[in-house]
Amino acid sequence: MGRLLAWRLARAGHRVSVVDPASCPAEPVAAGFTAAGMLSPLAEREHAEPEVVALGWRSLQLWPGIAAALARPGLVKTEGSLLLAHGCDLGAALRVLARLQGEPEPLNAAALQMLEPALAPDLKAWWLPGEGQLLPRELLVSLAEQAPGVDWQWGRRAMAVRPHVVDLDDGRRVDADLVIDTRGLGAKPDLPTLRGVRGEVLWLHAPGVALNRPVRLMHPRHRVYLVPRPGDVIVVGASEVESEDRSPVSLRSAVELMAAAHSVLPALAEARIVHMETNLRPALPDHKPRIDHESGLLRINGLFRHGWLLAPALAEKALEHV
Ligand SMILES: Cc1cc2nc3c(=O)[nH]c(=O)nc-3n(C[C@H](O)[C@H](O)[C@H](O)COP(=O)(O)OP(=O)(O)OC[C@H]3O[C@@H](n4cnc5c(N)ncnc54)[C@H](O)[C@@H]3O)c2cc1C
Repeated sequence: MGRLLAWRLARAGHRVSVVDPASCPAEPVAAGFTAAGMLSPLAEREHAEPEVVALGWRSLQLWPGIAAALARPGLVKTEGSLLLAHGCDLGAALRVLARLQGEPEPLNAAALQMLEPALAPDLKAWWLPGEGQLLPRELLVSLAEQAPGVDWQWGRRAMAVRPHVVDLDDGRRVDADLVIDTRGLGAKPDLPTLRGVRGEVLWLHAPGVALNRPVRLMHPRHRVYLVPRPGDVIVVGASEVESEDRSPVSLRSAVELMAAAHSVLPALAEARIVHMETNLRPALPDHKPRIDHESGLLRINGLFRHGWLLAPALAEKALEHV
């Protein structure tokens, strides 16, 4: 959220300073680095408020233009996604589908085979047109590197944030017309009801296993998705654990995520597990994003499971306040 706003405001001619604890643009500190990068307002409708869904569709309109302005159009794709279920879980899947709006379109076996030939042939499938995905790490780096003239304070942390003033951890203070607080979970001292929700992902290297778009398995016990990345990598995610523990991925999450992924894409049997990662989603009690504005201070937080899905539309909405 912070990097997108910095980029947008700098391009609009404002003088922008960013305080970022990362030592360089590519250091993966923010939850945004861990995210799978799914842009799925329809599939997330099962648990997300209508407001999140509406902002999500607006962001899907905005992301391609942002990627084009960064001269990286390939970082965002909107080629749809699939919901999948095993036949034995059809009952549970139909309950989920009933809670989605927009009526996902059922696909027959031949259509599924044509779209995603590597998927297990006996899967039930539904098509979600218009959904998309983006490459979070590349976008975060591009936004930081291409924000014109931004005074980037790498390796610095805000100790206190108040209207017009940010106190830094080296004792200096930054004065500004407007302070924008996008610290995610780091804003907890000022937003006591904010909590971190642990999410775990793993990366598989699977040369020759073609997956053309994100797919999500509707499983009675887990929500598991597989997201293709360049270089024959498939990201499998994500757990959702009520904990602020940032320690490495648990055996239980790894086993459940990998078993589900293998059941969907049997050719993953020989894939190599190349990376596992944990991070915390910043969530408010109602799981909705929140914008607070007073003179000299704008706070944006509570992006929970949907930071990438929400960011451009939320930036647009937040800047209307100022
Ligand atoms: C496993 C997982 C999978 C996900 N998948 C998706 C997905 O597919 N699609 C999607 O839309 N969303 C996804 N998300 C959610 C998304 O990552 C978050 O909603 C989003 O990152 C929140 O953005 P943010 O900018 O508010 O917080 P963050 O991304 O956490 O960024 C907060 C920033 O503030 C900095 N900060 C903290 N404290 C301070 C301080 N004191 N001073 C200065 N800076 C500070 C942090 O270092 C960080 O850079 C996923 C999250 C996880 C964990």
